[in-house]
Amino acid sequence: MRYLDINDFSRRDGDTLLIDEAVDLSATEPAFSEVRVVGKLRNVVGVMTLRVTVFGTYVGTCDRCLEEAVIPLQSELKTVVTLSASEDESVYVENGRIDLELTAYDALVLEVPLQILCREDCRGLCPSCGKNLNDGDCECNN
Ligand SMILES: [Zn+2]
Ligand SMILES: [Zn+2]
Repeated sequence: MRYLDINDFSRRDGDTLLIDEAVDLSATEPAFSEVRVVGKLRNVVGVMTLRVTVFGTYVGTCDRCLEEAVIPLQSELKTVVTLSASEDESVYVENGRIDLELTAYDALVLEVPLQILCREDCRGLCPSCGKNLNDGDCECNN
């Protein structure tokens, strides 16, 4: 689901809306998959507080061995929202609808590590023969 309509909810004082939505970011950023926004929206005396975790998976190329790297991402968002904006602009709201796609994308982009590794202790490629050292030592005597 892309848009979460909160027009009706904004009038339900004291209510809590549970959120658990799969978000498709494949068109925006193919490297992101399995994106999900989970959490809740509370309405206390007309003030709506959104508290969600954005989950996703980043699939890229390992900087060291050039094999596929699959990195789980997670980002916490907590902000007050109105029908047209969020307090710290971390969440996109327009015309009473939260744009889960833009919100999830912005949250996940910040979590992608600067160095993409297939695993913490990736040994990379041998600079001489190019063998992937994760598969075992080569004959080069480095
Ligand atoms: Zn690697
Ligand atoms: Zn080698």
